Amino acid sequence: LTTTDLIEEHRICVCVRKRPLNKKELTVKDLDVITIPSKDVVMVHEPKQKVDLTRYLENQTFRFDYAFDDSTTNEMVYRFTARPLVETIFDRGMATCFAYGQTGSGKTHTMGGDFSGKNQDCSKGIYALAARDVFLMLKKPNYKKLDLQVYATFFEIYSGKVFDLLNRKAKLRVLEDGKQQVQVVGLQECEVRCTEDVLKLIEIGNSCRTSGQTSANAHSSRSHAVFQIILRRKGKMHGKFSLIDLAGNERGADTSSADRQTRLEGAEINKSLLALKECIRALGRNKPHTPFRASKLTQVLRDSFIGENSRTCMIATISPGMASCENTLNTLRYEEEVSPQ
Ligand code: ADP
Ligand code: MG
Repeated sequence: LTTTDLIEEHRICVCVRKRPLNKKELTVKDLDVITIPSKDVVMVHEPKQKVDLTRYLENQTFRFDYAFDDSTTNEMVYRFTARPLVETIFDRGMATCFAYGQTGSGKTHTMGGDFSGKNQDCSKGIYALAARDVFLMLKKPNYKKLDLQVYATFFEIYSGKVFDLLNRKAKLRVLEDGKQQVQVVGLQECEVRCTEDVLKLIEIGNSCRTSGQTSANAHSSRSHAVFQIILRRKGKMHGKFSLIDLAGNERGADTSSADRQTRLEGAEINKSLLALKECIRALGRNKPHTPFRASKLTQVLRDSFIGENSRTCMIATISPGMASCENTLNTLRYEEEVSPQ
């Protein structure tokens, strides 16, 4: 391995996180068909039937940078995925961290924290953990002398349109200037001085995200949420960390739905997840051409895919149940394709 190989190898980190069987799955006696035999291997044991009706398990093995089993905490997942990327933004780089997977597999739990119960807690999600470490890093003498300011943005991409979650869902335009810089016009960038400031913004953004929606999950499964932490020095961008809770990847199946709106949304989600895969692959191979224009999601993340010092991490969340097997396999295959090795 040359030095360049080593650098490229670390530009992209691809992981999988399995959640525990939930109450509903336990009630209907769904089977857990996923095992994590070692720290980087996921196995799917899919029950199948031969023509003569004898049953057997089809075992499929996938290898990633990390595989987290259902006892892993957010803090642990964070430590191996987003934590190393905090250094990147202090080092004038661009970082992205994605949660990818089927609706209900744990993307929001991983990124935003737990919003399922009455006592909603966003302090344990990766958004908040990354913010906590940004403020810790700022106290280090090396960075303290840079006099950096921290800002946060929170927006949503729904059906190819951008909405500001920190400004009552204002619809925003995306413009590309002559220098190929992409701008989300009017996006609120709020200055934050401590972790608590960030937690407040996450709460505001989350309530804004789901307000007026009959079901929080139905809406969030169709949109990508982008939370960003931006470091500025004398007004100029120093580094940026984008943390993205992606739309449910099973939405691609909606392209055959009878409802036109649902069909269009499904097609848009499909398009953006494919474009995302291509952009990450281009980043891993140092390809000169990154097809970021293929979707709004990749377009707004353009500078994070292009820069010399860009790093990304993808956390695929999977449901353990047999009922989710097909979606789980789709998720794992996508992750394999994103993976540089
Ligand atoms: P998604 O955002 O992918 O649709 P959620 O994050 O909303 O999925 O998770 C669905 C449900 O499963 C929520 O009630 C959440 O609290 C629970 N859950 C998800 N991941 C875990 C986990 N690792 N441990 C415990 N519960 C989890
Ligand atoms: Mg969600």
